[in-house]
Amino acid sequence: MGSARQSKLRPSLLEGLDPEQRAVACAPRGPVCVLAGAGTGKTRTITHRIAYLVDSGHVAAGQVLAVTFTARAAGEMRARLRRLGVEGAQARTFHAAALRQLRYFWPRVVGDRQWDLLEGNKLRLVGQAANRLGMPTEIEVLRDLASEIEWAKASLVGPDDYPAVAGRLSRDIPEPAARLAELYRMYEKLKNDARLLDFDDLLLHTTAALEEHSAVAEEFRDRYRCFIVDEYQDVTPAQQRLLDAWLGGRDDLTVVGDANQTIYSFGGASPRPLLEFTRRFPDATVVRLERDYRSTPQVVSLANQVIGAARGRPAGSRLRLVGQQPDGPPPRFGEHDDEAAEAAAVAARIRELLDAGVPPSEIAVLYRVNAQSEAYEQALSEAGIPYLVRGGERFFARREIRQAMAALRTAAAAEPDGELVPRVRQVLAGAGLTESPPAGGAAKERWDALLALVELAEELAATTEGAGLARYVAELEHRAAAQHPPTVEGVTLASLHAAKGLEWDAVFLVGLAEGTVPIQRASGDGDAVEEERRLFYVGVTRARKHLSLTWALSRTPGGRPNRRRSRFLHGLMPEDHPAAKLARPQPKSSGPKARCRVCGGALTATMEVKLGRCATCPADLDEDLLARLREWRVERARQLKVPAYVVFTDATLVAIAEQRPTDDSALVSISGIGATKLERFGAEVLAVVRGADGP
Ligand code: ATP
Ligand code: MG
Repeated sequence: MGSARQSKLRPSLLEGLDPEQRAVACAPRGPVCVLAGAGTGKTRTITHRIAYLVDSGHVAAGQVLAVTFTARAAGEMRARLRRLGVEGAQARTFHAAALRQLRYFWPRVVGDRQWDLLEGNKLRLVGQAANRLGMPTEIEVLRDLASEIEWAKASLVGPDDYPAVAGRLSRDIPEPAARLAELYRMYEKLKNDARLLDFDDLLLHTTAALEEHSAVAEEFRDRYRCFIVDEYQDVTPAQQRLLDAWLGGRDDLTVVGDANQTIYSFGGASPRPLLEFTRRFPDATVVRLERDYRSTPQVVSLANQVIGAARGRPAGSRLRLVGQQPDGPPPRFGEHDDEAAEAAAVAARIRELLDAGVPPSEIAVLYRVNAQSEAYEQALSEAGIPYLVRGGERFFARREIRQAMAALRTAAAAEPDGELVPRVRQVLAGAGLTESPPAGGAAKERWDALLALVELAEELAATTEGAGLARYVAELEHRAAAQHPPTVEGVTLASLHAAKGLEWDAVFLVGLAEGTVPIQRASGDGDAVEEERRLFYVGVTRARKHLSLTWALSRTPGGRPNRRRSRFLHGLMPEDHPAAKLARPQPKSSGPKARCRVCGGALTATMEVKLGRCATCPADLDEDLLARLREWRVERARQLKVPAYVVFTDATLVAIAEQRPTDDSALVSISGIGATKLERFGAEVLAVVRGADGP
């Protein structure tokens, strides 16, 4: 890149970037990998990189294909590119990109055999398949079966290989693997017979078209030359294979991601391609970003603490974020009697923020599962606060939206082209959209939802030249399938998964109780708990300034207070916070009060006291250290001619391997180690913990 070339650039383009970000933006074409934490400007950097490459004449905008994982994030990327003045670069989700390509290449690959997207009918088809095979058809089971089929397809595992792979990975599934394979096969057959494609098929078929049809591949590769992937830590094998087919042996690929934000492992995603990028492309430019431009130091510090407790492979790549924003308020913690009380308190606090001038669109309530939204919808409605549920089925499941879509479909069939926005307004007027909003309540909510459809039409008209009703309805169908509702001005209610990549001034993380965060089904499995921890980290790092963390002790008003706050909150609360003390009812025994080092709750069972944590709280056991401690104990017991347990019991060794004490005082705080043992073995044990050789 000569300076003559650079001088043609708009000077502002690189000014908004720090030196490392600039290095990414200006790197020559070829492999580039950015490994960086939340809020460090990854997304900002890649949009600037695209603008830079285009401005400096390295590539034409139309040759750029940028992909990410949620439709909302892709929309955000398109908006940022537009603001940078880049016209014509594609920014899409993997699925949307594949859908577009498949539509285009299909006639050449398959001929005129038509197909449709399966969209919302998937569970029904899985149900039909289950029914034919005499398998259970309860909706919860079907959901699990459907997501297992999705996992298999995303992981490029076909029905024939499924039993062996599922066995090897000990997949937790509701049916025997061989039966599931039969169901998978039946589902595929029913789907093919009906000429339907599911979401995963879009990736698989597009990949096949590129891999098997050289003319298709040539045309594609001539068209797209420069590839960018955001949130690369969540790539699935099926997506990676499509990406490889796009590249076709070329290496003009920029990837950015944060392994500590991997939150789709359960769906087959893996941070491995990100972490092993330089192995695949030894010449890659690699950049790490540490400065967090999003959040206040108060939020950043909490985020660092959350991810600092992580274990496992992604944790090895974490970097400490360094906050760049001015100081803000400390994060707030709140323990409530029940969920309704929690939701009411959140709504009251949101009211305060709104009164203080924070716009509703800059506030989000994030929860673990979509079912949690109901309590917040109710509390916000009661408080007269506008809101929008994102990432759920709800927007498209609303009655007025279903009716409006039916009307729009009919109108599109009659007149597919023509001026979009006035047509949409006209159709929606028939579906109940009045000129001015009704006063409050459910009617206002319906009005807001319908208005969002108009705004979507405006957005489409602004970004896609000549888009008519047919194109608009296709976009709606696609969004309905992807559960990506359009924007409504209001407080965002979203699941933690749907919040990835986004940011708000104020974030409320709610329902932070054991069983919800981490989710019940993850509790027994170390990897699954780690994924939940990363999900919590994603939530924390969405906040620019105001962060609230709340939980409820019981589900229903007057119910038994049988819930405990999430283990992930351990150590985050200031010592003097009232909730820090009243974690659990005190035991009656008058003995020394042991407390769980994970959740802070009182310990009563002997084994729990020994371990220093509740049996249900997660162990962060260092297996390797435990093995070394056992070896040391065998040797020492042999020397002393005593049984091994006289040196230390198993429970004590486990406690040492979990707590990794670094000094005498940490060591004596472990149950089973008193003054005598400390004197006899303390130095040796600490040496083993440090990794030095024993005696
Ligand atoms: P995530 O991991 O959550 O996706 P990210 O690394 O993609 O985060 P961005 O969303 O790109 O981060 O940036 C976070 C915020 O910081 C944005 O508001 C962005 O505009 C801002 N930002 C990024 N880099 C800079 C910079 N050099 N100067 C000022 N603001 C910046
Ligand atoms: Mg991002």
